[in-house]
Amino acid sequence: MNCIFCKIINKEINSEIVYENNNFIIIKDINPEAKVHLLAIPKKHVINLFEADSNTLEVVSEIFSYVSKNAEKLGLNNGFRVTINNGKDANQTVNHLHVHFL
Ligand code: AMP
Ligand code: ZN
Repeated sequence: MNCIFCKIINKEINSEIVYENNNFIIIKDINPEAKVHLLAIPKKHVINLFEADSNTLEVVSEIFSYVSKNAEKLGLNNGFRVTINNGKDANQTVNHLHVHFL
C-alpha cells in the first residue's frame, strides 16, 4: 500500500518519532504550523473517521488520554489545539487517519 504514514509506522521512511506504543505513533509534523505540531497516527490503516470502526475510535480516545496526561513532556502544557482534517471537503491530504496537536 502506498501510504506515507504506513511507511512511517513500518520504519520504511524516517520521521521524528516522539512516542510509540502498540496502537499509535506520535511524530513531529514535517511542515509545522506552530511551535509544537505533532501528528498522532493510529497504526491500523484507516482512511478517516468515515471508515473508523469502534477499535480505531478507542485508539483515538487513547491518543487524547495520552496527550493530555503527557502534555508537559510533549511541550503542550499551556494548552493545545486539536484538528482532524476528515475527508475531501476538509482538505485531508494524507489518507490515513491522524490527529494534529498544535
Ligand atoms: P492533513 O492530511 O491535511 O491532515 O495533513 C497531513 C499532514 O501530514 C500535513 O500537516 C503534513 O505536513 C504532514 N506530513 C506529510 N508527510 C509527512 C512526513 N513524511 N512526516 C511528517 N509529517 C508529514
Ligand atoms: Zn496507512
